[in-house]
Amino acid sequence: MLDKFMKHTVIPEDKNLCWIWQGVKDRDGYGVLNATRAPRFAYSQFIGVIPNGMFVCHSCDNRACVNPQHLWLGTPAQNSRDRDLKGRGKYKLPTIKYGKDNPKTKLTENQVREIRHLREEGLSYYRLAKIYPVTIQTIRSICLHEIWKWVK
Ligand SMILES: [Zn+2]
Repeated sequence: MLDKFMKHTVIPEDKNLCWIWQGVKDRDGYGVLNATRAPRFAYSQFIGVIPNGMFVCHSCDNRACVNPQHLWLGTPAQNSRDRDLKGRGKYKLPTIKYGKDNPKTKLTENQVREIRHLREEGLSYYRLAKIYPVTIQTIRSICLHEIWKWVK
């Protein structure tokens, strides 16, 4: 598997730069190696075990990158990285909170970030709509940045 990984990866002379995956990619732009996302493979191969429920995230924002040094473990709720390395327990699905101040606003900005992140990690619109108090259409619009555009 490592051979295959290396064969599909372009490692620049400066190994601190992004290693670009040249093999198959999924529709989200992540490399795929034997049904595993290439960054996950890179992480487990070069850094260590990925605990259950944890996600491999890019510090470089380059989805095609598989440089283990650019990868870190996080839960979806940890976009802010704050609670990152304290790593207690498994990732739990977020609790639903309805906006208090404005009854028409059903989501918080953090939830919007989570939704986008979970989508990137492969959750379907359908599943996200089960988790959050909005419709599939709303989930889709959030993921396509048609709404909540100001949330980065
Ligand atoms: Zn990178």
